[in-house]
Amino acid sequence: MSANRHMSVDSRGRGTPEAASGLVSGADGPAGSRSHNPISTRRASLMQEPVLVLNATYEPINVTAVRRAMVLMLKGVAQAEEMHSAEVHSATHAHRVPSVIRLLAYRHIPQQSRALSRKNILLRDRNTCQFCGRVFASSELTLDHVVPRSRGGRSSWENLVACCYRCNNSKGDRTPEEAGLKLARRPRPFTLHTSRQLMRLIGHRDERWRKYLFY
Ligand SMILES: [Zn+2]
Repeated sequence: MSANRHMSVDSRGRGTPEAASGLVSGADGPAGSRSHNPISTRRASLMQEPVLVLNATYEPINVTAVRRAMVLMLKGVAQAEEMHSAEVHSATHAHRVPSVIRLLAYRHIPQQSRALSRKNILLRDRNTCQFCGRVFASSELTLDHVVPRSRGGRSSWENLVACCYRCNNSKGDRTPEEAGLKLARRPRPFTLHTSRQLMRLIGHRDERWRKYLFY
């Protein structure tokens, strides 16, 4: 479960087990191939699959999960532009799920910055602990103040990084130099440019995204 969630966040693409198995290739695969795994598990992981979000102008602006994308569609906020090859099955129906959605009303996205949030910092740092370089599930990461708050370090894009609990503990109330730790890279604000790069990485495994990502 956490492995699935982790992969949809990290999404370095092609080599993941999900991608390799074709993840419930509903439209293409034989119907009988469904019966191998419990539907609930597969359905849960499908609901976590990444969906590309386009502005009303077709400009890519975000990546969300199938579950959230379907809520936006139900609310009439967005419409599907591309469908996933997989389907979600209820008791009586098969529902196709989106791969790319588009907002129906234009939303202004500030050029330079995105909200400073835990989610966005983990996304910027690709769920990678910036000290040991290992990739973790979101639930196994915390945010570290590079210069500790007790030493005047601020909560800013330049001073917050994704950090595993182990590195966070060993760093304690010290600077990386004092703790003998080295940052993987200098933390920077998460710009639209950064997020486009991420979208491309995530989109590598979904051909349906390609035409929108080189906007
Ligand atoms: Zn670490």
